[in-house]
Amino acid sequence: MNINDNIVIAISKGRILKEGMELLQKLGINTIEDMGDSRKLIYETNNAKLKLVIVRASDVPTYVGNGAADLGIVGKDTLVEHTENNLYTPLDLCISKCRMVLASLPNCEPGPRIKVATKYVKCANDYFIKKRKQVDIIKLYGSMELAPILGLADYIVDLVDSGKTLKANGLVEVESIFDVSAQLISNKASMKTKTESVENIISAFETVL
Ligand code: ATP
Ligand code: MG
Repeated sequence: MNINDNIVIAISKGRILKEGMELLQKLGINTIEDMGDSRKLIYETNNAKLKLVIVRASDVPTYVGNGAADLGIVGKDTLVEHTENNLYTPLDLCISKCRMVLASLPNCEPGPRIKVATKYVKCANDYFIKKRKQVDIIKLYGSMELAPILGLADYIVDLVDSGKTLKANGLVEVESIFDVSAQLISNKASMKTKTESVENIISAFETVL
């Protein structure tokens, strides 16, 4: 792959990292040092112009939007929550697939004020605006499944893959809101100033998909 500019790719740590790295390997990109159980956050690769940085999922749009990274690999769920507008989303990478889902206890009968617990406040808001329902959103940072069980909320909006976690906690899926997969994002300015390098990387991704 021909890269003439210095390029930084930011990858979500957590569930996207493994499949994201597998994809990069298909492009012929390997880190010099084994990621293994290293605590490093920045990695040189076999292409001297290309570095990888590992950041929290919700920080990927921020790094790329501000040009600290040129490209990023991040879930659609995270992008929907972000208001970052210095980004392009040139490619769906079709990895790390799951769904954004509305779930509740089986015989959920909410009172006049529906309560919804979620990490995905914007998704939940948009969903209930479309349904013309007024709800109170309760922001959580994890373990959303607990909220209906303890009476904190009537519903949760969360990511679901197999549905095992919902089931294990006695919850049922009410509706699937949208499909989620990892996206390639790019900084708008990098597209202009490092056009050829960025386009070469995007095309390389396209050919392995
Ligand atoms: P952090 O806690 O570090 O802020 P996080 O908890 O969102 O981030 P992960 O749980 O590893 O980190 O999820 C990262 C991304 O993995 C999600 O944004 C989503 O796009 C993707 N993903 C794929 N499958 C699932 C799933 N079943 N549940 C949750 N996330 C999933
Ligand atoms: Mg987490």
